[in-house]
Amino acid sequence: MTPASAPTPSSSRPTRVAVLGAAGRMGAAACRAVEDAGDLELVARIGRGDELSAVAEAGAEVAIDLTVPSATADNVAWLVENGIHAVVGTTGWTEESLQDLRERLAGADGIGVLIAPNFAIGAVLAMRFAEIAARYYDSAEIIEMHHENKLDAPSGTARHTAAAIARGRAEAGLGPVPDATEKDPDGARGAVVDGIHVHAVRQRGLVAHEVVQFGGVGEQFVLRHDSFDRISFMPGVLLGVREVAAHPGLTVGLDGYMDLG
Ligand code: NAP
Repeated sequence: MTPASAPTPSSSRPTRVAVLGAAGRMGAAACRAVEDAGDLELVARIGRGDELSAVAEAGAEVAIDLTVPSATADNVAWLVENGIHAVVGTTGWTEESLQDLRERLAGADGIGVLIAPNFAIGAVLAMRFAEIAARYYDSAEIIEMHHENKLDAPSGTARHTAAAIARGRAEAGLGPVPDATEKDPDGARGAVVDGIHVHAVRQRGLVAHEVVQFGGVGEQFVLRHDSFDRISFMPGVLLGVREVAAHPGLTVGLDGYMDLG
């Protein structure tokens, strides 16, 4: 299919927005947030089994994908092919699927895609601060905690935080995190992402939480972010919707739309 040219949201009328995964927990919150925003208009609610053609038929300029890891890459490919900007919160993206999307976007005319592992402003700040702190501490570990219905582990936020810490350590010339463990038959030390140990907790009552612990000689520095309610993600979702058309190509991380130095 030939990519349509990118729609340019006009400032004189509301931007037309579709939500994919509209019946889900995040999708329902996003529908409410879009409906409450004066500069946006919710034109389509898409659930599992609905035809994506309804997004184009509704004239959506931007689609928000809050579905499941097994569906999101195909959804976004369809949106790009149909000239619709995408703001994606669904996790489960791999380096391979991101590369495939980059290639697809190279042939698209001015289409923007934002993939945000975490829309909470504080979580984005924590990732940035973690990259800075990583330069100064020998030890760094991540504990991510989510509700019991989360499908993937570790979380996308934890993966991106680990990558940020790894970048910080590399800049400072730090080697591997010190760890004398010789025997760990049950995986008690957790997953290792980019050389950083990540521990995933799944617990009823939680929403999305992350603790990053740094250790140096005689001291500990802890960064913590808590999303107590899915409403905490909505300012970031709306920022993404408002900015995506102005950022053609692929942006990974909401910090790409924020001025964090
Ligand atoms: P959820 O409650 O399970 O909602 C997912 C919804 O997507 C369900 O209604 C599901 O329908 C629907 N769905 C499945 N396949 C679909 C398809 N092909 N097209 C349209 N809809 C489809 O999950 P959630 O808690 O809202 O989370 C959604 C995603 O956002 C997850 O990947 C989660 O990790 C991520 N998330 C991201 C952030 C962030 O800040 N980036 C924050 C929280 C969560 P069925 O119920 O029929 O399967």
